[in-house]
Amino acid sequence: MTLSADDIRFDQTHLWHPYTSMIDPVPAYPVAAAEGVKLTLADGRQLVDGMSSWWCTVHGYNHPELNRAAKAQIDRMAHVMFGGLTHQPAIDLGRRLVQMTPEGLEKVFLADSGSVSVEVAIKMAIQYWQARGQSQKHRLVALRHGYHGDTFGAMAVCDPVNGMHELFTGVLPQHLFAPAPSCRIDDPWDPADIAPLASLLEAHHGELAALILEPVVQGAGGMRFYHPEYLKQARALCDRYGLLLIADEIATGFGRSGKLFACEHAGISPDILCLGKALTGGYMTLAATLTTTEVAETISRGGAGCFMHGPTFMGNPLACAVANASLQLLESDPWEPRVKRIEAQLMSGLAPCTELEGVRDVRVLGAIGVVEMKQPVEMARIQKAFVERGVWVRPFGRLVYVMPPYVISPEELDQLTSAIVGVLSEH
Ligand SMILES: *Cc1c(COP(=O)(O)O)cnc(C)c1O
Repeated sequence: MTLSADDIRFDQTHLWHPYTSMIDPVPAYPVAAAEGVKLTLADGRQLVDGMSSWWCTVHGYNHPELNRAAKAQIDRMAHVMFGGLTHQPAIDLGRRLVQMTPEGLEKVFLADSGSVSVEVAIKMAIQYWQARGQSQKHRLVALRHGYHGDTFGAMAVCDPVNGMHELFTGVLPQHLFAPAPSCRIDDPWDPADIAPLASLLEAHHGELAALILEPVVQGAGGMRFYHPEYLKQARALCDRYGLLLIADEIATGFGRSGKLFACEHAGISPDILCLGKALTGGYMTLAATLTTTEVAETISRGGAGCFMHGPTFMGNPLACAVANASLQLLESDPWEPRVKRIEAQLMSGLAPCTELEGVRDVRVLGAIGVVEMKQPVEMARIQKAFVERGVWVRPFGRLVYVMPPYVISPEELDQLTSAIVGVLSEH
């Protein structure tokens, strides 16, 4: 199955890809099929996937169980509105999420994408304080190097400089930012690390609705792993100063960081939790925002008498059915030993990178491996070099990183890490 020259031209001329230019775009690789951890390009070449299609395909591609769940559901009911109607797949998914997520998260809002789940979380926090008669508490505090999505509410809590959205500064709501945690997960805890957040909350808590952060792993804003004690103390500060804590586990959820949820590294529960990405094992777009009974009931007692959000595709049965199958697989084919093995192998496989000229840092947590370069990589050239070595790795800026499907075999993972070592030695 090859694409015609005309197809390729159409793609380049008419289709916008993520963060691309419409003038002279770098051509995208046509992919014809995907199975397990392998992408098959239209010209027949096979690539070991190091990206899990951006954190999503934890069970690999074309998984028989997920296919079965999707096919069974599509023959029953692909979609039905969620206003006034309900269905088994949504109920099953809600049950699972309440049961598996950190304690206290009892109410589930099913959203359509990660960014929307962040919008929903922000709206919940604002409605909560309005309902408590404290509508002046409507700003958020976020962390530098954070990334929370591309929609307007989410953009406003991304790192204002490196968060890809600097361009929009003038039109976004102005929130507050604490410095990114600098104490690494593998360093001894430095109590000074939390001081800037503590003073910010002390000074501004009267106008702050919530703190939003990615627990322990900051993803697209820098691939940084910070000390769980920071998270623990951030939770305590939120309690002390009357802020809700929003944990964005869209990237870290479902085992990726070595815990089922990254909040577990610190043993804390947030007031609001955002989930997405791996929720359906990478089959469909689906996300969820969970909150506590207290937050949900307070919102519901407020002026509006309800939570003011309701997407058209809310609770899409097809997506819920696949999510249920994916969460079932996490149990029946346990993720934990797989992630542990990947972690150990990433550590040894990427270790030679520390010796390389242009490398600043190598770090691994769970099934995430990061090689941070001193200079930004030359994207088009490095992408080609990876494809030539039979792997799919898509760096950004100074970061060459992988988060492979949990089902990757030791041999495939070796191919992935060897390719990184090889390409970076030449680069
Ligand atoms: C990817 C991501 C988002 C946005 O999710 P989309 O599905 O792309 O809208 C938000 N927060 C984090 C931490 C993410 O990794």
